[in-house]
Amino acid sequence: MSTWTEHERAVVDAVPDGLFIGGAWRPAASGARFPVEDPALARELRTVADADAQDARAAAEAAGAAQEAWAATAPRERGEILRRAYELLLERRDDLALLMTLEMGKPLAEAKGEVGYAAEFFRWFAEEAVRIDGGYQTSPDGKDRFVVMRRPVGPVLLITPWNFPLAMGTRKIGPAVAAGCTMIVKPAEQTPLSLLALAGILREAGLPDGVLNVLTTSRPGEVVEPLLRGGIVRKLSFTGSTAVGRLLLEQSAEQVLRVSLELGGNAPFLVFEDADLDRAVEGALAAKMRNMGEACTAANRLYVHESVAGAFAECLAARMGALTVGRGTEPGVDVGPLIDADGRGKVDELVEDAVGRGAKTLVGGEHAPGDGYFYRPTVLTGVPADAAMLHQEVFGPVAPILTFTDEDEVVAAANDTPYGLVSYVFTQSLERAFRLGERLDTGMVGLNKGVVSNPAAPFGGVKQSGLGREGGTVGIDEFLETRYLAMPLS
Ligand code: NAD
Repeated sequence: MSTWTEHERAVVDAVPDGLFIGGAWRPAASGARFPVEDPALARELRTVADADAQDARAAAEAAGAAQEAWAATAPRERGEILRRAYELLLERRDDLALLMTLEMGKPLAEAKGEVGYAAEFFRWFAEEAVRIDGGYQTSPDGKDRFVVMRRPVGPVLLITPWNFPLAMGTRKIGPAVAAGCTMIVKPAEQTPLSLLALAGILREAGLPDGVLNVLTTSRPGEVVEPLLRGGIVRKLSFTGSTAVGRLLLEQSAEQVLRVSLELGGNAPFLVFEDADLDRAVEGALAAKMRNMGEACTAANRLYVHESVAGAFAECLAARMGALTVGRGTEPGVDVGPLIDADGRGKVDELVEDAVGRGAKTLVGGEHAPGDGYFYRPTVLTGVPADAAMLHQEVFGPVAPILTFTDEDEVVAAANDTPYGLVSYVFTQSLERAFRLGERLDTGMVGLNKGVVSNPAAPFGGVKQSGLGREGGTVGIDEFLETRYLAMPLS
């Protein structure tokens, strides 16, 4: 049976142990712990503290107590903490990437890419911390003066998913630190280790006690609901599924919390007859296979003009079929395991459903060998409109190809979903690219490009894909309130 090397074990064992509350590591009040699995081996990698509502209260109190002093720190000081954390993340990139691969499965090269991407959020928000603006205004009747200022929202609750264990954390922690908010972070139960390691780094970078608190738990509902209803937390920033996001939006109503939601997607990927086909295949590989297809931005429906669909499908199937599936820690591996048995089970069901309705498998369509939750990269053609995979996120390495004949038809099909996170368009016509940039109902559009994520750009969706934006110059706004002072001036 495969197992971990001594170095791998040492990296996992070095992760701080416990919940991080008020600047100290401590066990859960109940003493409970829960297991974290390595999805490439389907075996327990480590256990972590299992928080309950009592620990949640302690974390909220620590965040509440630290808020006023933290809001009063100099923006430059907050920025420099982020800048130091950015540098530490890059210095420790190899070990952090290995840790991420062990708890989440993605190949080491992708994990290293994520550490760099995660670090960039800290660099970006280190620069934003000192650019928070305000204003001075004369009232229309000339009698009053208004001073407009931006204040931190207050203690925030940040909830992250398992698919990007580090970057989804820094994308929220970066702007919260920059804006002067204290926070409680609750990472996904499948991948808490990267976030615990990050908490250790932020502490080393000089983040004061109580500003960041981390709760790991196997019972997220029991921990999160009292935090949302408890009166200390003033804002929720959540990344995860639309179903859970909707539930948390309801729970946030009681205290009228500010809410940012980054939810699921069902991204259409459009290839027009005038597209550069090599580029389109490259883009499809990136948009589909990044993170084994386990990304909210993953191309979920590939619409290809009927005149080029055959060539595109053949080429994509050849490239997908040539990818090496295996443990992400091994050299040469392109595709790691899916996150867990449920994740792979869902992919099985969706592929069986599509094939049962008449889809043809060009490549893949089955498990790949190994102890973990491996699935072969898969290309399907002739997927009928009622196949379940066209209406929900596959979250796996499966590319369903559909054909179209004209622009209106494909725009209508692409927009026919409750989701609206991202779409991709491949065409050499500048006018068509701009036109579709306006017609496609998504928060982001990739033009001749399969990856749109960038810390300097506003990431987010419309419709049931979310509320608010992360990153870019608007990212910090989500953590700021506008306040104004009015006074007469004679
Ligand atoms: P999930 O919604 O099950 O879990 C996300 C987080 O919510 C986890 O931390 C989990 O512990 C927590 N959670 C689950 N149930 C909860 C409850 N009842 N109360 C409070 N918290 C609860 O989603 P997932 O399976 O971890 O992640 C995959 C989903 O995330 C996909 O739908 C994907 O599209 C989405 N996602 C979106 C983005 C984006 O930016 N739009 C980015 C990454 C992932």
